[in-house]
Amino acid sequence: MTTDTHSPAVPVRATVFVGRWPKVPVEEFPGIPFGTFAPTTATLVSGATEVVLIDALYLKEDVQDLGDLIERTGKKLTTIYITHDHADHYLGLGPLLERFPEAKCVALPHVIESIKETMQMQTEQWRLLFGDACVLAGPVPDPLEGHTLYVDGSPLQIIEVKQADIHPTTIVHIPEIDVVVAGDSIYHEIHPMLGLSTPAEWQDWLETVDVVERLRPRMIACGHRRPDGDDHAVDTMIAQTRAYLQDFAAAYEVAKDAEELVATMTAKYPNHGNVWTLQFSAIMAIGRRDAAQ
Ligand SMILES: [Zn+2]
Repeated sequence: MTTDTHSPAVPVRATVFVGRWPKVPVEEFPGIPFGTFAPTTATLVSGATEVVLIDALYLKEDVQDLGDLIERTGKKLTTIYITHDHADHYLGLGPLLERFPEAKCVALPHVIESIKETMQMQTEQWRLLFGDACVLAGPVPDPLEGHTLYVDGSPLQIIEVKQADIHPTTIVHIPEIDVVVAGDSIYHEIHPMLGLSTPAEWQDWLETVDVVERLRPRMIACGHRRPDGDDHAVDTMIAQTRAYLQDFAAAYEVAKDAEELVATMTAKYPNHGNVWTLQFSAIMAIGRRDAAQ
């Protein structure tokens, strides 16, 4: 028996919370098929006494469950960080700040500008997609000074990347544990959202995949993944996201219509979940392509 009561330092760790897989839209949405919205994640980064939350979800029940999880850690939520301007990643910040009033919510100034510009439009879209299940738009994050957050002294580096499903957009690197919280730059076994960007931006997105790869993460928290996804399947996630972007861009060039693009991609990626995202992406991309001709 030892009398040494000195306990080792508690290492920082990242815990991925995966939300529900809801049906959409709740009411007829012109030009939008019925299907499901991909499960969305939020990541808790915790140390001995503190928690930093990355992204805040959007479904009332998920935000409640996420708050319960934060509470059960017994640690202090100091900060909520928002990776990018999409309501599925930020709407929950309102109820979370009410529940954890000592926490602050931050994002990069670029991202905040974008949130302010699109909040009205996204609120309307989200209401059609999710109805009352969705948190109403609330406060906007405060600007983050610099690019570093800390949890019990361990740094979280915010990296602004050129493109993911939209831009401006960011990822978070936690060097101490080789984790990347990828926002919507990397997808895992879920059809990526390509309907909100242009073919030139898909090429920029490929550069973001390279950025993530160069960080040599041991674990990647994707913004959307299956509930049973493996966050340590790093090589697969990177390779599949890269291949998917290249395959979609190539198929887009030759597809005669959105249906054919969906058929090509589902044949290549039969195990990817949430075909609705692919249908939406194909309708948007092909619609823009044909309108430009
Ligand atoms: Zn998303």
